[in-house]
Amino acid sequence: MKVLSVNAGSSSLKFQMYEMPEEKVLISGVFERIGIDGSFYTIKYNGEKIKKEATLTTHKDAVKILIDELFAYNVISDLNEIKGIGHRIVQGADRFDKSVVIDDQVIATIDELSALAPLHNPAAIIGIKAFKELISDAVAVAVFDTSFHQTMAKETYLYALPYEWYEKYQVRKYGAHGTSHKYVAYRLAEIEGRNDLKVIVCHLGNGGSVTAIKDLKCVDTSMGFTPNAGVIMGSRCGDIDASIIPYMMKQASLTPDDIDTIINKKSGLLGVSGVSSDSRDVEEGIKNGNERCALVQKMFVRRVIDYIARYYVLLNGADAICFTAGIGENGISTRKEILDGLKVLGIEVDEEANNCRGKEVLISKPTSKVKCYVIPTDEEVMIARDTYSYIEK
Ligand code: ADP
Repeated sequence: MKVLSVNAGSSSLKFQMYEMPEEKVLISGVFERIGIDGSFYTIKYNGEKIKKEATLTTHKDAVKILIDELFAYNVISDLNEIKGIGHRIVQGADRFDKSVVIDDQVIATIDELSALAPLHNPAAIIGIKAFKELISDAVAVAVFDTSFHQTMAKETYLYALPYEWYEKYQVRKYGAHGTSHKYVAYRLAEIEGRNDLKVIVCHLGNGGSVTAIKDLKCVDTSMGFTPNAGVIMGSRCGDIDASIIPYMMKQASLTPDDIDTIINKKSGLLGVSGVSSDSRDVEEGIKNGNERCALVQKMFVRRVIDYIARYYVLLNGADAICFTAGIGENGISTRKEILDGLKVLGIEVDEEANNCRGKEVLISKPTSKVKCYVIPTDEEVMIARDTYSYIEK
C-alpha cells in the first residue's frame, strides 16, 4: 500500500512516498519557491536526484506535477494506489493529542490555531486542500508537531503570567519537533528492548529542542509557546529575559514585527557570530580564529548542557541521552563538548564511536552511567506510520 508523507510550507512542499507497512521510500522530492519567481522542484528516485524548473503558481500546481511524476517514474499506475496522505501540521495546540483523520472540522480547528503558527498552519491547509482536490480517495491524516508534548503536566506547561492569558489567549508551553522526539524515543525503545525508559532527546538542527521522556511520554520540552524558547538555535535566541523585548523596542524604536524578526531570524548562532546560522560555518570560523564563533559555540553547548542537567533531575536520572537532527547527527565536536560538560553525572564519551555522522551509534563507553546515542531522526516515516495506522483501522 502506498502512503504519501507531506510537509507543506508557505512556498514549499516536501513529499516522500512509502510502500507500507515495509516503510520503503519509493520516491521523494521537494517543490520550492511556489508562488515566487524561479520556482523549481527536485525529485529523488533510486538514489538519483533530478532538478527541474516549473511554473508553480500555487500548491495545486505542485501536486499536479507530483502526480505526473509518480506516473512517469512508474511508482503508480493508478491514483487509487495511494491509500493515505499524512500531512505535517506545526501547531495543534491542546486540541490534538494525537494524529487524526482530516475532515472539515479538523481543517477549521487547524485554521483557528493559525494565530499560534501564522506561517505554518495556513500553508498546511493549502496543502491539505490541494491534495484533497486531486487525490480525493486517499485517507488524509494530520500529524501534529505538538501532540507528543500534550502529556506535560499543567505545572510544567503553564507560564507564571496572568492566568487569563492562558484562558483567553492560549498562552502556555506547546513545544515542537514532537514527531522527531517521538521517533527517537520509540527507536531507542526498540534498540533497548523495553519501553520503561527515561530518555533525554536532543533534537539539534537549525531549530533545536531538548525533551525529557519517561515511558515513551513527554514530561517536559525546551521549546515553549513558540519554537523560540529553550536552547540557542541557528537564528533564534532561545530563552532570554522577557523584559529585554520591551526595553529594546523602546531603545531602538522597534515595532512588534521588527523584534519578532530579530529574535527569530537574526539571533542565535547568526546573531552572536555575525557570520552564519549554519553550525558548519561557525565551526569553520572557529578554525580560522573567529572569537565570536568560538563564543557562540560555547554558549550553544552550555545551554544544551543546562537543559540535559535539568531534565536529568526532573526524570530522577536517565537511561539514555540521544542526539538527533543536523547538528545532533553530524556535530562530532559539539556532541563531545556537551557530553564532556556532563562528566559529573558519570557520563563517558567513547571518542572513537562518537567520530560518526548520520548513523545510529552508541557513543558512550560501557562504563558510562548514562548511555549516549546518535539516532538519526525520521519525521516522514512517523507521519507515514500514523497515516497507515488509520487506513488499517
Ligand atoms: P532543520 O531544522 O532546518 O531541519 P537540520 O536538522 O537540517 O535543520 O540541521 C541543520 C544544522 O545541521 C545546520 O546548523 C548544519 O550546519 C548542521 N549540519 C547539517 N549537516 C551537517 C554536517 N554534515 N556536519 C555538521 N553539521 C551539519
